[in-house]
Amino acid sequence: MIYKRSSALFAEAQHVIPGGVNSPVRAFKAVGGDPVFVKEAKGAYLYDEDGNRLIDYINSWGPMILGHAYQPVVDAVVEKAQKGTSFGMPTEIETKIAELAVKMVPGIDKIRFVNSGTEACMSAVRLARGFTKRDKIIKFAGCYHGHSDSFLIQAGSGAVTFGSPNSPGVTQGTAKDTLLAEYNNLEQVKEIFEANTDEIATVILEPVAGNMGCILPAEGFLEGLRELCDAHGALLIFDEVMTGFRLAPGGVQELMNVRADIVTFGKVIGGGLPVGAFAARNEIMDYLAPVGPVYQAGTLSGNPLAMAAGLAMLTTLDNDKKIFNRLSEKTEYLHKGIAEALNKHNVVHTINRLGSMISVHFAAEPVTDFASASKGANETFKKFFHGLLNEGVYIAPSAYETWFITDALSYEDLDTTIAAVAKVAPDLKEKRVL
Ligand SMILES: *Cc1c(COP(=O)(O)O)cnc(C)c1O
Repeated sequence: MIYKRSSALFAEAQHVIPGGVNSPVRAFKAVGGDPVFVKEAKGAYLYDEDGNRLIDYINSWGPMILGHAYQPVVDAVVEKAQKGTSFGMPTEIETKIAELAVKMVPGIDKIRFVNSGTEACMSAVRLARGFTKRDKIIKFAGCYHGHSDSFLIQAGSGAVTFGSPNSPGVTQGTAKDTLLAEYNNLEQVKEIFEANTDEIATVILEPVAGNMGCILPAEGFLEGLRELCDAHGALLIFDEVMTGFRLAPGGVQELMNVRADIVTFGKVIGGGLPVGAFAARNEIMDYLAPVGPVYQAGTLSGNPLAMAAGLAMLTTLDNDKKIFNRLSEKTEYLHKGIAEALNKHNVVHTINRLGSMISVHFAAEPVTDFASASKGANETFKKFFHGLLNEGVYIAPSAYETWFITDALSYEDLDTTIAAVAKVAPDLKEKRVL
């Protein structure tokens, strides 16, 4: 594959945009080389600026669950755009998508729309703090909740600790209110609650993690967090920005039958336009302005184009629930094919999967939290990434990302992908010692 024009565009972009990108992971820093500039996309394929066709497993990091330029979404947006693109006044379509979301997702009465997953999580935490009149939050290492200050915190040396900021610009004052725990370590969460009696406002997590690869909650983990929050008067926030409307019509709450107090959304709910949302039962949502005292606002929130895209997307998912089965089946097929190709060449690996989320880790041990995800062989991943890219298969340029399967992928596409893995596998290090 030739990437002349992409490289030239990247060079040009770097003069006027920091690092040439508007979101860091796009820059290929973890894998080396220049990023691919996309020109257009349709269905399962990206077409880049050099005319290469790539099978896409990122899908805008999740939103395009039905493939790119999905016609009902495109039509809805075009139709709306003719009638004005923003008003800063209430519109009927906001109620329509809210009604549908409330119907699809268990345990929520009301939903507020914002412009990104970051905003949704930031607002959900503010609401939880206001509602409980407490300051501290518990988050898990490796869970991503957007880039607002409270979430950019990492653990000291693996132990539970008062967080220290992992970005300059986040103050110590903010960091001290974020307490860290290891994903799937319920005992640790219990200890944190006991050490901070009546101080924890909320526990926030990705109920199926997708930002350190795909990591499933251990049996009893979500239920255990639910019980701890109830026992200590804290609210449980499920960040379903990635999993919402993806793993099931009602997200992980429905799939695993555990209820959160506040749920956040993004990605799929916007059908590829900038949308986030947070939702809860009446008692909590009515704590929000203009009814309640917790302030939250947005000039472009509930934007008509975004709402039209989201409504078209959710309507399709609500009308054809078999989509979720099809996605799972395709993902399972891919899993088997990749595992077979890697095993044939004794490449050490672990594959995690649930529904339409899958991640390939070049690690021998099970990947169950951030520490085990970090043990994956990054050099091997780089080779894997560039090898697949060369074969026309585009996966996320980081070993910590999940692949997203879309309904637009055909079995032929999956076979092409598996064949690409088979071709790359002999070059991968980290072979099993026989
Ligand atoms: C993507 C993501 C976010 C942040 O959403 P943005 O729209 O990028 O701000 C938050 N939480 C999770 C789980 C995500 O995957």
